[in-house]
Amino acid sequence: MADKKHVMDLNLNINNKMKKKKIVIVGGGVAGICAATKLIDNNYPGELITIIDMGKDPYERPPDEVMSGFMGCGLWSDGKLTYHTAIGGQLSKYCGEKKAYNLMDQVIEMVKRFHPKPEAIMYSNPTEEPDFIKPYFGLRLFGVYHIGTDYLHEIGKRWYDYLVSKGVQFHWETKVNYIDFNDNYIVGEVQEKNIDWHYDELIFAVGKSGIDFAQSLAKQYELPDEPKSVQIGVRFEAPQHHFQKLIDISYDFKLYRKFEDKGVSLRSFCTNNNAAYVAVEETYGDYSYNGHAKKDPKYKNDMTNFGILMEINGIEDPFEWSRNVVNQCNVSVDIPSSHSPTGESFLYKAGLYYSPSFRQPSFTSENEPVRVIRLTELSKIVEAFGGYFDYIRDFISDMKKVFPTLEDDWGIYIPEVKYLSPEPLVNYNNLSLTKYPNVHFVGDALSARGITVSGAHGIYVAENLI
Ligand SMILES: Cc1cc2nc3c(=O)[nH]c(=O)nc-3n(C[C@H](O)[C@H](O)[C@H](O)COP(=O)(O)OP(=O)(O)OC[C@H]3O[C@@H](n4cnc5c(N)ncnc54)[C@H](O)[C@@H]3O)c2cc1C
Repeated sequence: MADKKHVMDLNLNINNKMKKKKIVIVGGGVAGICAATKLIDNNYPGELITIIDMGKDPYERPPDEVMSGFMGCGLWSDGKLTYHTAIGGQLSKYCGEKKAYNLMDQVIEMVKRFHPKPEAIMYSNPTEEPDFIKPYFGLRLFGVYHIGTDYLHEIGKRWYDYLVSKGVQFHWETKVNYIDFNDNYIVGEVQEKNIDWHYDELIFAVGKSGIDFAQSLAKQYELPDEPKSVQIGVRFEAPQHHFQKLIDISYDFKLYRKFEDKGVSLRSFCTNNNAAYVAVEETYGDYSYNGHAKKDPKYKNDMTNFGILMEINGIEDPFEWSRNVVNQCNVSVDIPSSHSPTGESFLYKAGLYYSPSFRQPSFTSENEPVRVIRLTELSKIVEAFGGYFDYIRDFISDMKKVFPTLEDDWGIYIPEVKYLSPEPLVNYNNLSLTKYPNVHFVGDALSARGITVSGAHGIYVAENLI
């Protein structure tokens, strides 16, 4: 009797599996593992789920390998989970506000579940805009779960063990470099050998590190995309004490203002305090700026920096337009061998720094390239921005009213830019490509810019596949 039941169970299992599809997930980052976990939690057979990633598993992944590997970028290195549908990219556009919060809740629950000490998670949630900024700016208020950087790698190991125990197939250090959307197979390279996998459903979750690959696929398959805006501005830097009153209310404050009739909005972006340094980004051969805060107290400099980013809608080719502005904000000088410290000629390239009070840029010792300019040279930059620079000037002059000690005690690094990768057009109910309904784009490869939204994309797709 026991044997007969065993055979019946086996048949039932086989039947269930036959009905279910082979799901391949490219990218074992935030979106990929949230999708897999949702599937597994709903009894999807693990052996039908394959995750391929060019990085390493959480046991092998070095702590400073921030872009690639199990849990992807921010969940491996930072662990701040924002909780607002206006932050971290687009989610409610696809599924509506209510569902968006439900999905974000699920991401947070997953992280809590694998946390060795969930009670150590902190939640900050400023609720009231302070009066002193009100006439000039809005302050975007949103909750943030601070997972605690010390716990992230342990979370990764527990999470990975769970998925492995359920039979999920992982392939590490395997870079997918070809996908055939028509014949449903992908090719990955591992140790100079190519391997291919067939899929019934594909979840494409390659994050920022896979953006070039995503773009090449979009080109190859002529994927239609959503219209995009320009995101450009400057990185503002000043001594922290000028902003302390606001920092006490919201550490990573986000000031914003909108000019809806002009299709322009501005926001302060990615605020760094205490040991705040400006970092150079080289993209497409040009320099632009960003900021980061150092953790080691020895770097404390009591500075604050943040981007002042404009979102400009209605520009015909936003990518080309932004690249052109960035290029004009770079100086490029051929240094002949006679003037070179090494005795060899080289090309000196740098972005720009302007301060009305001649403040010096506060770079670290990393010798970052920047060229200090004066007011006359700034006028060329104003021109390059095609009239939009006035919005930045207004933003700064209103900050001077709100933070009265600021006056001219600041500097700007020019430019800061976010090249928004084209967002492929997807069916909003399951994030599948309009041209290939069994291929789902999720996370940063779609329109996300944060952990919670990326994870939510993954769960949303999984719910549709169950
Ligand atoms: C340093 C850093 C800190 C951050 N901190 C935060 C934070 O605190 N809070 C927050 O909300 N957001 C943060 N972010 C952003 C956040 O990490 C991302 O929005 C999120 O990880 C995106 O999830 P994803 O699954 O789309 O991609 P990712 O998490 O980036 O994962 C993509 C995975 O795909 C793999 N991959 C890429 N291309 C291929 C290929 N061709 N073949 C095989 N595998 C491939 C990569 O190895 C990677 O593991 C941070 C980002 C960075 C870089």
